[in-house]
Amino acid sequence: MAAAVFLSHPSYIGHDTGAHPERAARIAAIERHLDETGWFGFERRESPAVARELLERCHSPEYVAAIERFCAAGGGQIDADTLVSAGSWQAALHCAGGAVAAVDALLAEGARAAFAAGRPPGHHALAARAMGFCLFNNVAVAALHALGAHGLERVAILDWDVHHGNGTNDIFHSSAEVLYASIHESPLYPGTGPASDRGSGAGVGFTLNMPVATGSGDAEFCELVDSMVIPRMRDYRPQLILISAGYDAHVEDPLAGCSVTEEGYATMTSAMRRLSEELEAPLGVVLEGGYELGALARSVAATLEALA
Ligand SMILES: [Zn+2]
Repeated sequence: MAAAVFLSHPSYIGHDTGAHPERAARIAAIERHLDETGWFGFERRESPAVARELLERCHSPEYVAAIERFCAAGGGQIDADTLVSAGSWQAALHCAGGAVAAVDALLAEGARAAFAAGRPPGHHALAARAMGFCLFNNVAVAALHALGAHGLERVAILDWDVHHGNGTNDIFHSSAEVLYASIHESPLYPGTGPASDRGSGAGVGFTLNMPVATGSGDAEFCELVDSMVIPRMRDYRPQLILISAGYDAHVEDPLAGCSVTEEGYATMTSAMRRLSEELEAPLGVVLEGGYELGALARSVAATLEALA
């Protein structure tokens, strides 16, 4: 049977954010928990560094060079939320590279599932601006790679991170080649993603924003996946499905007010896996947020188990 692949890299520890919620211990907690529960048949691989040209398909060369220089100079605050250290450059390259390698494993090797665990997360990063803990938009880089290198015409992204993925939303706003669907708490950072934002130009109707009220949990998230995301994706017939998987809608997460549990993440993953099988569109998962270490680790394990 084709492999299921889990991608990670030791450089993630070098993205030193100090006493910040998006910290190196997140990836360590996930891996330690999976060591205890077993890896659900996933084969572990090291995320390669992303090729500069792939990064520059998503981000402006000037922006990429500015991040490189800022890290090389020792880093610091980019904005009120986003902090980098000297090691952040390598971490960010491997994080985007892990998402790209997940796509390659699915499309070139026929892997049965792929999970790219990495940091810094990506879905707030704009084409030329870091924000919200994010430097490079890992899932967007991966989607563009699927379109460019693998010749796909339709990629669908489900973003269930509790925050709206404004970066991914904007990068693909006027594109019909990527369907972006986001379930996010509102009002909450970054304040974007009303249901009325459905894309622009050729991309009208290919952005599906589903804000939910504070307190929303498994029932609300799973209902939106079943009643909105799956029918829309069935119509769209993506050739690849990516999940921008943040775990900060978890009831124990300190950064937001939703109440999803690991059972909810398992149910959403199972629903997306069935859709992936029905549409014969491989399914890849890219880590975004999730800041309560135990909840994050258990929720990632629930996702892998549902994919296995
Ligand atoms: Zn988030």
